[in-house]
Amino acid sequence: MEPFRYTQPKSVDDAISGKAAAGAQFVAGGTTLIDLMKLNVERPAVLVDINRLELAKIETASDGGLRIGAMVRNSDLANQEIVRQRYAVLSQALLSGASPQLRNMATTGGNLLQRTRCYYFRDTAYSACNKRTPGSGCAALDGFNRIHAVLGTSEHCIATHPSDMAVAMMALEATVHTQGPKGERTIPIDEFYLLPGQTPQKENVLEVGEIITYVTLPPPIGERSYYLKLRDRAAYEFALASAAIVLQTEGGRVSRVRIALGGVGTKPWRSREAEKLLEGQPADPARFKAAADAALQGAKPLHDNAFKVELAKRCLTRALRVASSSA
Ligand SMILES: Cc1cc2nc3c(=O)[nH]c(=O)nc-3n(C[C@H](O)[C@H](O)[C@H](O)COP(=O)(O)OP(=O)(O)OC[C@H]3O[C@@H](n4cnc5c(N)ncnc54)[C@H](O)[C@@H]3O)c2cc1C
Ligand code: SF4
Repeated sequence: MEPFRYTQPKSVDDAISGKAAAGAQFVAGGTTLIDLMKLNVERPAVLVDINRLELAKIETASDGGLRIGAMVRNSDLANQEIVRQRYAVLSQALLSGASPQLRNMATTGGNLLQRTRCYYFRDTAYSACNKRTPGSGCAALDGFNRIHAVLGTSEHCIATHPSDMAVAMMALEATVHTQGPKGERTIPIDEFYLLPGQTPQKENVLEVGEIITYVTLPPPIGERSYYLKLRDRAAYEFALASAAIVLQTEGGRVSRVRIALGGVGTKPWRSREAEKLLEGQPADPARFKAAADAALQGAKPLHDNAFKVELAKRCLTRALRVASSSA
């Protein structure tokens, strides 16, 4: 780890000014950033600690939705009564991630911005990583790519986005609110993340100095929701495939549905193709399977991760079955 300067601003404006310093980076819970600093993957010259900002509240919004401060801890969000009752998919996704200790530190903003778990990104012994060193190549393409993405990949990067929370927020159609040197912005979560394309180092639309202040959730489009996460072991492990469902059925038919996948995409993956196939149709296993096939239609598997295509289809089919049968 290299030496760095440390500041603790008390207001959002001061935090934004602090971030203007060369090589400055925000730190919230530190559970991603400090790890990466120890590995020398991230080397900020200044750490702007945002833990003193008043951004740790969960409030009901005027439209009946929820407003979640960027500094709300993952454990507080998962266990909040309204979240457990009305946004169960979010609570389930959060509780499926990391460990209780990590969730007590991890924040809403930091979770959205956590970096990939690609082995080659996290190990500086490998020089080829376009995300870490633009233009250096991608060691994962010809390396061991079992955990890598099959959707949204490019010839420059195939890393998955690892967040469970963001997948649930994608299905809940969250909006990310930011503040920066140019003022405030609201960004639908589906437009917040970028595909790797030729610039995998640019993972989202945040501009220099911009801070996430809070996230809003509209009232859920359906009464039923569910998060299913499949992984190598039952706890303390990232998703190989996951599915977040928000659903409404009427008379045995799917009237409205939102679907997002995790573990398989270079960003939390909303599947409008699958949603389109289901809306207005009977909530039955044949339709669920057709929707899963549609969601993975564009998959581009590599030598070690082809199993993810079938795994993700089964994950989505099962999640739809559970969501449509839950009371
Ligand atoms: C062992 C281990 C297992 C894990 N397992 C899982 C898992 O199964 N599922 C899962 O989803 N996650 C998992 N995680 C990741 C964990 O959820 C993230 O590390 C955590 O959510 C990041 O939040 P943080 O507040 O600690 O972020 P930090 O580390 O403080 O920050 C992360 C990044 O976000 C930036 N940032 C933070 N807040 C803001 C803000 N408000 N505005 C702008 N920029 C900001 C920072 O500059 C930094 O670049 C695991 C982590 C570990 C260490
Ligand atoms: S997949 Fe992306 S993060 Fe991993 S080595 Fe390739 S460029 Fe780097």
